[in-house]
Amino acid sequence: MSYVVGVDIGATYTRVVLADSDARIVDRDKFETPREHPLAPTAAIAESVRRLLRRNRVPEGALRGIGIGSIGPLDMRRGIIVRAANLPLENVPIVRPLREEFGVPVYLVNDCVAAVIGERFFGAGRGHDDLVYITISTGIGGGVYVNGHLLLGKDGNAHEIGHMVIDSQGKLVCGCGKRGHWEAYSSGSGIPKLARLLAGERPELAGESELRTLGLERVSARDVYDAAKRGDRFAVEVVREASRYNAMGVANVINVYDPSLITVGGSVALNNVELVVEPLKGLVPEYAINRPPEIKVTPLGDDVGIYGALALALGLETLPKGFTQ
Ligand SMILES: [Zn+2]
Repeated sequence: MSYVVGVDIGATYTRVVLADSDARIVDRDKFETPREHPLAPTAAIAESVRRLLRRNRVPEGALRGIGIGSIGPLDMRRGIIVRAANLPLENVPIVRPLREEFGVPVYLVNDCVAAVIGERFFGAGRGHDDLVYITISTGIGGGVYVNGHLLLGKDGNAHEIGHMVIDSQGKLVCGCGKRGHWEAYSSGSGIPKLARLLAGERPELAGESELRTLGLERVSARDVYDAAKRGDRFAVEVVREASRYNAMGVANVINVYDPSLITVGGSVALNNVELVVEPLKGLVPEYAINRPPEIKVTPLGDDVGIYGALALALGLETLPKGFTQ
């Protein structure tokens, strides 16, 4: 029996799973992503892999490969995380230390690339050659297949769809420092900024909102969606405006990639399906020119990226030359 490991490196948590050769998950581990030193995350992953092997009585020789989906941007050719939003580390070496430690192939891709691979081989994307996965979480990101080809770009970051410009006036500043990006308006980090922007434009509506009572400087995306679900008129307006920005972003994705399926994941989308995903169906046609794809929530939930990492480790998807070390 042979085994593979799938890893999901997030800004807050890193998750590691052990799976058999049919991608059945045997065991899981999760820890806070270490942030004290650039070598610490990889050391913690190695430790976790050894722990999982030991705990399941798997000899190290039975390990076939390790797949990793990670926050980025990455330099895939060098197998490193160049830097990461919300993680105070730069140039984190991932691939080489793990390959030297375990003597197996190690594959590193952007977390949304891992997610679209997971969707294609294990989720709703089976049978689709043209497929986009979109995460709406703290940030907004995507992974893309066109004609069965995984899109990567020169460094493996070909799909930073959250940083598409959707507001020419650039009223809000994105976490990346630039203006007018999709992520700045309707991601988990963007929604509170959008609420403050609208409160400035519509003070009479904001004045009677429970978000005003909570303190507009302190509200989270969850506060806004929860208030909207209770019928708070201002929160409903913020959510409606966020949906319009999401529709523009998704329409741009449809116009440039022409997918037959878009799956949506990420905590903001998964926790508010009726308010985030459902409105897209009505709004996207206002902006999209290509024949509309099916749009649905990923059936793999939080594990979509983990499954992509496993698909890489199992050799179901192969990365082009130059993107593996
Ligand atoms: Zn940006």
